[in-house]
Amino acid sequence: MTLTEDIGNRRTFAIISHPDAGKTTLTEKLLLFGGAIQLAGEVRARGERRRARSDWMKVEQERGISVASSVMTYDWEGCTFNLLDTPGHEDFSEDTYRVLTAVDSAVMVLDAAKGIETQTRKLFEVCRLRDMPIATFVNKMDREARDPFDLLDEVEQTLALDVSPASWPIGMGRDFKGCYDLINNRLILMQAADKNIRSEGISLSGLDDPRLADYLPEDSLQTLREQVEMVRGLCKPFDLQSYLEGHLTPVFFGSALNSFGVRDLLSGLRDFAPPPRSHKAIERRIEPNEDKFSGFVFKIQANMDPKHRDRMAFVRLVSGRFKRGMKLRHVRSGKTISVHNAQLFLAQDRELAETAVAGDIIGIPNHGGYKIGDSLTEGEDIRFTGIPSFAPELMQRVRPIDPMRAKHLARALEQLAEEGAASVFKPYLGADWIVGVVGSLQFDVLAARIDTEYNIPVRFEPTELYTARWVVGDDPKLLKQFMEANRASLAEDHSGHPVYLARNSWHLNKGQDDWPDLRFLKTKQEV
Ligand code: GDP
Repeated sequence: MTLTEDIGNRRTFAIISHPDAGKTTLTEKLLLFGGAIQLAGEVRARGERRRARSDWMKVEQERGISVASSVMTYDWEGCTFNLLDTPGHEDFSEDTYRVLTAVDSAVMVLDAAKGIETQTRKLFEVCRLRDMPIATFVNKMDREARDPFDLLDEVEQTLALDVSPASWPIGMGRDFKGCYDLINNRLILMQAADKNIRSEGISLSGLDDPRLADYLPEDSLQTLREQVEMVRGLCKPFDLQSYLEGHLTPVFFGSALNSFGVRDLLSGLRDFAPPPRSHKAIERRIEPNEDKFSGFVFKIQANMDPKHRDRMAFVRLVSGRFKRGMKLRHVRSGKTISVHNAQLFLAQDRELAETAVAGDIIGIPNHGGYKIGDSLTEGEDIRFTGIPSFAPELMQRVRPIDPMRAKHLARALEQLAEEGAASVFKPYLGADWIVGVVGSLQFDVLAARIDTEYNIPVRFEPTELYTARWVVGDDPKLLKQFMEANRASLAEDHSGHPVYLARNSWHLNKGQDDWPDLRFLKTKQEV
């Protein structure tokens, strides 16, 4: 296959949802349909095995949340799907934002009884910033659900997004019978007896097809006809361009637990979801089918195997083809590296990556040296943009319980910061380190990880700090003056950038007012 054909078959996507809407269940079913796993339940089982291996993950086990995100690749009907998992808990949303920089589209899962929830909304906003196409899966139709018109209205109103139902539910809760496929005119009935059945559907000529009466009782049929007529009157017909631009979402109704609607969602993604898109770099825009390899690191996961102390840099391929043994330029350091041991992530296993193309994700094991946002190329100096770091909202001082371990702690913190697990600041004055996070649960996870992975028991202590801002200015002299005048409120982050640590909002405003020609940034685009 040519490079362009290979890339055209890639669908790299993530699922966004509020906890409990059914993301894990849907993931399992997508993998089951893709033949990537034999039995549903495997995703969880694998997760549990992995969790058991490392202690810090106990935290996530105890709290019942999933902290680490991973990649799952599977093939289905001529397409290669790369599904990037996103942690659902809101304390880890920073990680999720970065994962979303590495996908081309998203599936938004809603609980049919709850509609749009806080986390769905937040994640949606991130997708919108990137004009990302979104398909919607309304899950749990086998339970008492809200009126489908109501749900569509909510999506349209609260997200300002056009909706176009791809299927229409027949009944709900105990009376949920299945869906009418509005795109292909098929009737798909749910077979509750076998939760893993892959229903093929019954092709019809339309809602007047007399065969409908063989499958549905008269009253259901009547309601279906009325509702579909209303839907067609009220909602926009599916428009591919509008979906690709992020203005319209096709809506699928189903029940992940019963494997229902999953196949339709998959064929929707195959037929409509975008293949790998172009990416912006500081120097120029990079097209996926360019001959030369390029990619960026969007996630670093440390100590996946504690025995080896390895770190895995997850790289999204932006252009070209990767081949094992290739020499790649690590643009930030200017070094050239031969990559022999890159990994591909299948549903159940990792395997050595012989080849991969734009859209795919490879993992490069390393011992440090990679940072989130780093670019890899075949030689060109390209620096990709748009991978965010967020100003932390909570800041604590961290100290080793044994003061002799301070040096080791510094190294551990640096690694955790490079991995994106927290922001770490070294104040210009004083010997302590300040750790900043977006959600308080992250402190617990960090303390557990520093203890188990680096063998340094630590204590987190509250600070009087309110927030942090990256300070930038075009005039180096001015920046220097500012730094001299504010040493007591300044620190540097793990890359050496100056950061203003504000004690309260008044203090923050004062800094900004006194230095109008400097910029106090809430997010730093890692480049
Ligand atoms: P996540 O937190 O979004 O990953 O949600 P899970 O996939 O873990 O699902 C949350 C709960 O909802 C679990 O108890 C699932 O068994 C249940 N669930 C998921 N999908 C369905 C569905 O289609 N119907 C019903 N009745 N329950 C579901």
